[in-house]
Amino acid sequence: MIIVMLGPPGAGKGTQAELLAERLNLMHLSTGDVLREAVAQGTPLGRLAEPYMARGELVPDDVMIGLIKERLGKPDAARGVILDGFPRTLPQAQALNQALAQIGQKVDRVFYLRVPVDELLVRISGRYTCPRCGATYQRRQPRPGAEERCDACGAVLEQRPDDRIEVARRRLDVYFEQTAPLIEFYRSQGILVEINGMQSIEDVLKDELAALPAR
Ligand code: AMP
Repeated sequence: MIIVMLGPPGAGKGTQAELLAERLNLMHLSTGDVLREAVAQGTPLGRLAEPYMARGELVPDDVMIGLIKERLGKPDAARGVILDGFPRTLPQAQALNQALAQIGQKVDRVFYLRVPVDELLVRISGRYTCPRCGATYQRRQPRPGAEERCDACGAVLEQRPDDRIEVARRRLDVYFEQTAPLIEFYRSQGILVEINGMQSIEDVLKDELAALPAR
């Protein structure tokens, strides 16, 4: 089963992808996480991607398409994948369909998480991320001066550089220009399910589970 999580930054794609992957025993593939890891390790991919990410822009399609093809070919992708952060452009979506067709697969479901822009900015600027294990937290009222630690592994939480408000605004613009057209692309294929992303994490998950294709 191939599931695509679609929606603007801050809509909850990562949180939901993680929960769905666990529940359905599928691989969670976050292209943002792959790129952040590459940046942290200073690999050629990381060095290429870093300036785009720092500006809140998209890494070029050919790079991302190559990366996703390589990952989809790995053995742990065989049982199914939740794609989180890919595709983000029409050429990426078309390349994904082609790559899947070559291995006799297709995108089975696209969950579009709908959240109003005002709420997205609040969520993004309140998001703290664990640099060690990648867990994310919402801190609507950060305690000034106090170090926030990860509940899972104890590392000191950080704000992602691209979650700063100026970069977050650019990421939202880029989303509306380049990624939002995918809503119609997938709707026209009859596989898009719109989910109200303003509900609790549990209720969003419930709606997704209820809208899975029959297996
Ligand atoms: P995310 O963690 O999904 O918000 O991604 C963080 C950043 O990684 C984005 O703002 C882009 O710069 C880059 N990125 C992640 N996925 C893609 C993609 N599919 N295409 C292009 N750039 C991407």
